[in-house]
Amino acid sequence: MTQKILLLPGDGIGPEITAEAEKLLTVLRDRHGLDVSWTSAPIGGAGYDAAGHPLPPATLEAAKAADAILLAAVGGPQYDKLPRELRPERGLLGIRAALGLFSNLRPALLYPELADASSLKPELVANLDILIVRELTGGIYFGKRQTGVETDYKVGSQIIPSARVARDTEAYSDFEIARIARTAFEAARLRGKKLCSVDKNNVLESSQLWREVVIEVARDYPDVSLSHMLVDNAAMQLVRAPKQFDVVVTSNMFGDILSDIAAQLTGSIGMLPSASLNERGQGMYEPSHGSAPDIAGKGIANPLAMLLSVAMMLRYTLARSDLAGAIEAAVRKVLASGLRTGDIAKPGEATVNTVAMGDAVIAALG
Ligand code: NAD
Repeated sequence: MTQKILLLPGDGIGPEITAEAEKLLTVLRDRHGLDVSWTSAPIGGAGYDAAGHPLPPATLEAAKAADAILLAAVGGPQYDKLPRELRPERGLLGIRAALGLFSNLRPALLYPELADASSLKPELVANLDILIVRELTGGIYFGKRQTGVETDYKVGSQIIPSARVARDTEAYSDFEIARIARTAFEAARLRGKKLCSVDKNNVLESSQLWREVVIEVARDYPDVSLSHMLVDNAAMQLVRAPKQFDVVVTSNMFGDILSDIAAQLTGSIGMLPSASLNERGQGMYEPSHGSAPDIAGKGIANPLAMLLSVAMMLRYTLARSDLAGAIEAAVRKVLASGLRTGDIAKPGEATVNTVAMGDAVIAALG
């Protein structure tokens, strides 16, 4: 059956890198037997300009009806003064909530040719290939909140008679832990079959449940080796010896922090894709970078994170890991041949523009 893709170009460099993704999809459809169709809709600032809202109703309906969504980026200085509910990022949050996209997959991959872009020594990061699976709709960001004045507030052995106190609650149910664990085990099956679950089980009740449930789910995945790590150690290990990891699964807050550390290890934001999935495997795929208003309209944006987002979409929603692998191999080939957009070029090195980089990846696909 033909699978439906919704393209959301958004703002800034979004339309420029979406054009490259569309070119790639056309080639995959016409020459590689990919059975897909696609449409485009405005979101973010473009949604506000077209329909007065960052997530126009027609865009939301199209998102619900799609098997996969490919979003470029939203935002720009011209929208910074809009009220919060009309800001471009509301478009993204609206889709995440409406589709129940509870798992966030962020690979951190460093091609050997770009190893000196990292702040770590090249030998520690060359060929780095890890995947952080972050729970996206639960935990402390969504738990009960409370702010107010409390009497007789305890600080260690001290009693403060009156204090302003703010509370956020970290809460996880076995249901939420089991479903994110399953996503992570499934992802590990498609990769190196090693899963590290990160928690703080020596201190937090919610982490104790997290670990218990992950161990229960592991029974269904005897082919994946499971380990556990405390979050403080995981942060340290990510910068000490990142290549020890394959897939990491963790809660919303720990994942927020660890996935940014992992992304920074690669030193090149224009290269990193990401995916957010729901239980039905429906997903939104997007580059990790923003709309880069400083270079928008110049035709020099790096389209690789967007093209690698197409690869993730093929692997995790469209069940075409073969084509995903082919795109990733094509990107490797293009980088090995020395082609660079400005953001990944060394000083003085020759650069190519967005269109030339997109063409080169398609040519390398064969
Ligand atoms: P950014 O990622 O847009 O840009 C940071 C720097 O990286 C800039 O110098 C930019 O030119 C460069 N860069 C980013 N992507 C690039 C690419 N593909 N090729 C070449 N260079 C690239 O982050 P920012 O400047 O903090 O944010 C700009 C706008 O993007 C803001 O409005 C922000 O809210 C929005 N934003 C959107 C998303 C998203 O849509 N998911 C994510 C982050 C930021």
